[in-house]
Amino acid sequence: MAGAIPFVVTADAEYRAAATSCSFQDIPQTTDGVASVTGSELRSNYANRMRDKRTPGRAIYDQLRAEHISTTCPYCGLRRVKTLDHFLPQVDYPLLSVMPINLVPSCMICNGTKDTICPTAAEEVLLHPYYDDIDSQIWLIGEVLETNPVGITFRVSPPAGWPELLSQRVMNHFETFGIAELCSDNAANELGNLRVYFFDLFNALGEDAVRDHLKRILASYRDNRRNSWGSAMYAALLESDWFCSIGCTQI
Ligand SMILES: [Zn+2]
Repeated sequence: MAGAIPFVVTADAEYRAAATSCSFQDIPQTTDGVASVTGSELRSNYANRMRDKRTPGRAIYDQLRAEHISTTCPYCGLRRVKTLDHFLPQVDYPLLSVMPINLVPSCMICNGTKDTICPTAAEEVLLHPYYDDIDSQIWLIGEVLETNPVGITFRVSPPAGWPELLSQRVMNHFETFGIAELCSDNAANELGNLRVYFFDLFNALGEDAVRDHLKRILASYRDNRRNSWGSAMYAALLESDWFCSIGCTQI
């Protein structure tokens, strides 16, 4: 196993360079291993010397997970972190199997969805939570469906100034993890809980009171996170004259 160490060091440097230039797709795969160490042997380091609770390496695993365990999954932005995901799959990149920078906290569903996905082009590189911070601008947009009951759809709207590559990556990420559907499910649940509240508010105090409520809730959601389903939903509801005057009574 010691013979693999120089290759691991090189792989670490390649990974960091690729992360900053968004060129993960150019990192050569080492499925069959290096030197006299097989890919299977390299991967076993993760299962047997890091994830296994009886080994010293477990402390590193626990530290990585503990830093994010109560936070939201960075892939979907909705569910709780439960595990660590190999950003570049260990089956194709066994040299990266125990590299902390390749171990990303995630929920179980995103971990399963992503599975062994490998980018083949720059636009397919999923958002890496250690390198990609895109929450300084609003990019998640909600749209009100003027239906009975009210519906909300979600989409990516790249801000002016985003590079084309980033826009493509965010849309690919959004699609890969089925984020639109997840957001719509959360929105439907929230609106269902507020059906009586909005009905009574509108009938008692009218349209202006509905707008005032939406503004306050939107500010609170955006203070927490600009691109959450809640921020996008309340922004869409506030901008909808139809919702504020009619829709709010037929949720
Ligand atoms: Zn997730």
